[in-house]
Amino acid sequence: MALYTKAAEILDKVEQKKGAVKTLVYDSKFQNIKQLFALVCETQKYSSVLQEIIESTKFLKETKLKLNLAKVMVYDLLFGQGVKCGGAWKAMMMKHRSRLQAALARMKVKQKVSRNEDLLPPGVQDAKARGIPRYVRVNMLKTTVEDVIDYLKREGFSYQGRASRIEDLCHLSGKAFMGDVHLRELLVFPAKMDFHDHYLYKAGHIILQDKASCLPAYLLDPPVGGNVIDACAAPGNKTSHLAAIMKNKGFLLYLFRKLFAFDLDVKRLSTMSTLLLRAGVTCHKLANQDFLKVDPLSPEYKEVKHVLLDPSCSGSGMVCLPDGSSEEQDSERLQALAAFQLRCLDHALQFPQLQRVVYSTCSIHSTENEEVVSACLQKNPGFRLVHLFPEWPERGHGPLTQCLRASTKETLTHGFFVAMLERQTTPCSGESIHVSMTSSMDLDMGEPGGGDEEVEDVEDQAQQDSSEIPEEQPQQSTTKKKKRNRKKHKKQEN
Ligand code: SAM
Repeated sequence: MALYTKAAEILDKVEQKKGAVKTLVYDSKFQNIKQLFALVCETQKYSSVLQEIIESTKFLKETKLKLNLAKVMVYDLLFGQGVKCGGAWKAMMMKHRSRLQAALARMKVKQKVSRNEDLLPPGVQDAKARGIPRYVRVNMLKTTVEDVIDYLKREGFSYQGRASRIEDLCHLSGKAFMGDVHLRELLVFPAKMDFHDHYLYKAGHIILQDKASCLPAYLLDPPVGGNVIDACAAPGNKTSHLAAIMKNKGFLLYLFRKLFAFDLDVKRLSTMSTLLLRAGVTCHKLANQDFLKVDPLSPEYKEVKHVLLDPSCSGSGMVCLPDGSSEEQDSERLQALAAFQLRCLDHALQFPQLQRVVYSTCSIHSTENEEVVSACLQKNPGFRLVHLFPEWPERGHGPLTQCLRASTKETLTHGFFVAMLERQTTPCSGESIHVSMTSSMDLDMGEPGGGDEEVEDVEDQAQQDSSEIPEEQPQQSTTKKKKRNRKKHKKQEN
C-alpha cells in the first residue's frame, strides 16, 4: 500500500506544482524508486481515462478514496499487473473489480478500439508511438563496440550499420539496432528494448544511458591522466563515462586517483559505488561532500583543469508526461534552482588551473540553462563559451547558439542542455573554439566503432514499463577552420 500512497502523494504535489516527478520521486526516499516512478508516469499518462472510469463507477463515493489514490490503484488493477497490496485494501479493490473492468470495456466499445493504449488521447499516442530509442553506451573500460555488436548478433539481434541521419533511428523495430549517428560508442535500439536483465548490462559492458546524457563527458573530453572534477556526480553514469574517456588512469594508488567525484546524497552515492564497481571504474575518489564547500585552493585540486557540472535541476526535460511535454514549474522554484546552479558554476570557475567546465541540466527551462550561463559569464569575463558540435541540430536559445539543447522531437532524446565554458588564454579575440564530436573522437575516442545510470535507469524503466551573454561568436563552418580548431584543441591538451 505504501507504493500507492507515495504515488498518490507525488501526483498531488505535481498538481500543486511543488516539483517535477523525477525530483519528487527521488525525494520520497521510497525503497523501490523505479517501481514508484513507473507507476506515477503511467498513471499520469492514463489520467483522463482513469478519471472517466472512476466517475462512471462512482468509485470515489463508494470507497471514500482521494482521487489520486484511486487513480494509482485503479491503474494497477486495470492496466498494470494487478493491485499490489493486501488485507482490506485488496478486498476493496476486488469488490469493485468487475464494475471497473466493465466500465473500461464500455469505453472501448464506445470508442471502437480494442487496445488499452488506443484509449489514450491522440497527443499521448503520438508521443508513445515516437518514443525515445533505447540508447546503450558501450563501456570502453570493459569491451569494445565491435565485441558488443558481435555478441548481440550471435543472440539474434540484427545490426543495421551506423545511422547516417537521426531519422534513421525512428524506424527500428524488433531486434534491429544501429550505431548512433553522432556518438560512436552508442548503440541504438527500439524504444521498448529492455536490457536490465541482460548479461552485458549486469556485467557492466553496456550502460543504459540516454544519448543527451552522454554529451557532457564526451564534450568535456578530459585527457588521459588529467585531473578532473565531477561536481554533482551521483548516481554516476557521467563519472563512469569520464573514467572511460580517461582510460581509468590513476587506479593503482588511491592517493593518486585524479577523478574527484562529489555528491551530497548518501543514498545516491551508494548507488553510484555499485554502478562504478560494475562498470570497472577505479580511477575515482568519491566524496560525500557539498561541492560548494570544496576549497578550490586546496593543493589536492591544484592540477584540476576540467570540471563536469551536472547539478540538481527541475528535471523538466525528462520525458515522462503523457504528452511528452514538460511539467509546468513554479517560477520561484526555478529561480531557487537557478541561483544554486549559478553558485555551482561560479564555484567551478574558481579552480586556479581550470581550463574548461561543462555545465549541463536535464531541464528545458532557459532560467536554468542559458540564463545561468549568461549570468556566470557576465561575472567571469575571463571565460568564454565554446561553440559545441556545429553539426548538432538543436542549439541554445537566444544568442547562446554555442550551447546545445536536446529534445525528443529534434534529437530523439530527453530534454537536455549543455554549455562549455573555457578560460580565455588570449585577450578576447571574438573567436570561439569549436568542439565537435569528430574532434572529440580524434582526440580520445580512438577505439574503432566508437543519458540514470540509475536516474536514467529509472526513466528507462518507466519507458520500459510503459511502453534538462557573451556576444555571439562567429560560427566557423569550413573544413579548414574545423581542422585548425582541432589542432588548436590538441595543442591545449598537450
Ligand atoms: N551527474 C549525475 C549523473 O550523471 O549520474 C547526475 C547528477 S544529478 C542531476 C544532481 C546531483 O547533484 C544529485 O545527485 C544531488 O544529490 C547532487 N547535489 C545537489 N547539491 C549538491 C551540492 N551542493 N554538492 C554536491 N552535490 C550536490
